[in-house]
Amino acid sequence: MRGLYDPRSSMASSPLVRKLVPIAALACGTWIGLVGPDAAEAEIREAAAPITSPPPESAPTPTVDPSKLPDPSPFPRMNPAANVGRAWLLAEGPAYDPNDKKRYVTLTFDDGPIPETTPVILKTLARYDVHATFFFIGRYLDGNDARAIATRNVAQNILAAGHMIGNHTHDHLLLTTANHTDALAQIEEGAASIERATGHRPEFFRPPYGQLDPFTEDVLQKRHDEVVLWNVEAADMVNDDPEKMADSLERQIASAGGGVVLLHDVKWSTVETLPKLLAWLKARAYDPARPNRVGYVIVDLPGYLKATAARPQPYADRAQVEAARKERAQKNHSPGES
Ligand SMILES: [Zn+2]
Repeated sequence: MRGLYDPRSSMASSPLVRKLVPIAALACGTWIGLVGPDAAEAEIREAAAPITSPPPESAPTPTVDPSKLPDPSPFPRMNPAANVGRAWLLAEGPAYDPNDKKRYVTLTFDDGPIPETTPVILKTLARYDVHATFFFIGRYLDGNDARAIATRNVAQNILAAGHMIGNHTHDHLLLTTANHTDALAQIEEGAASIERATGHRPEFFRPPYGQLDPFTEDVLQKRHDEVVLWNVEAADMVNDDPEKMADSLERQIASAGGGVVLLHDVKWSTVETLPKLLAWLKARAYDPARPNRVGYVIVDLPGYLKATAARPQPYADRAQVEAARKERAQKNHSPGES
C-alpha cells in the first residue's frame, strides 16, 4: 500500500511537489511521517535489493537458428569482411558469359548533397527512370541554419525518389592517415548525421579517396556496412568540360563492360555531363530482340550486387584488377587528351 507520496504519480513529478516533499520530510525528521510505515519499508527493501538477479542455471534453448533467418537486407552482402581489395574487385561487376551481351551499369554520386546541383541531378535521373546511389558527407546535414535545412530536404527527396544513400564519412577525411579515434568518429558520426536527417541508417559506405586500412576495415565489418568503390570515373573534380567527361565515361564503360560509375553531384559540369551519358546508355540499351549486340542495363546498387552475386568475378585479386585497369586506361587514351 502506498501513502501520500508516490514517486511515479504525475503530481509527485511536478517541480513544486518535488521541492515540497523533501522539505516536508525534513520537517518531519523522517519519511515515515509522509508515506506510512508499510510503504517506507517496502521502498527500503526495494533499494537494498541486488541490481541484477543471478543468471539461471541453463539458458533456454533458442527455437530459431539465427543463421537460418533470411537476410533482412535487400541485396546480397558481397564483402562481409569490408575488405578494400575485394571492394575494388566487386566494382568490376560479374564475369560475363561470352554469349551474354547484357552489361550492367550503376551510377553513384559522392560528396553531396548540395542544394543547388543535386536537385537538377534528381530531375535528370527521374527523366531517364534511373535509380542511383548518393554517398553523403554527414557534416552537410548538421545544424539549423537555412543551408543545413535545405540540404536535409534534398537528402529526404533523394530517398523519396527511390535512390539509395550511403555514408561518405562526416568530414571527408582520408581515413588511412587519421588516428583511430578520428577515423572511427568519421565513420560513426557520418552515419549518425545521415540517420538523423533521413531516418534511414546507411548500409553502404564509400571511403574518401577509396582508401581504408585494417583498422577501418574492421570497424566497417563490425558495423556490417557494405563497402562500395568504382571502376569508371570522369575525374569530374578536375575536369570541367562536359563533352570530354561524357566521352571519357563512355569509353571506359565500353571497355570495362559496364560497371560502377563515380560522379560528384557538386559541380555544374557533372550536372551537364549526366544527360549526355544517360542518352548514350539509352541508345545502347540491351535489346533482347538483338541478343548478339552488347547492350547496357542501368540498375540500382542492389541490382548491381545481385547481378554480381549471380556470377563469378572476372579477376582473382586486386593485382589483376589493377593490371586490367591499366591496360584499359592505355587503350582509352586518345591523342590530344592530356
Ligand atoms: Zn569524396
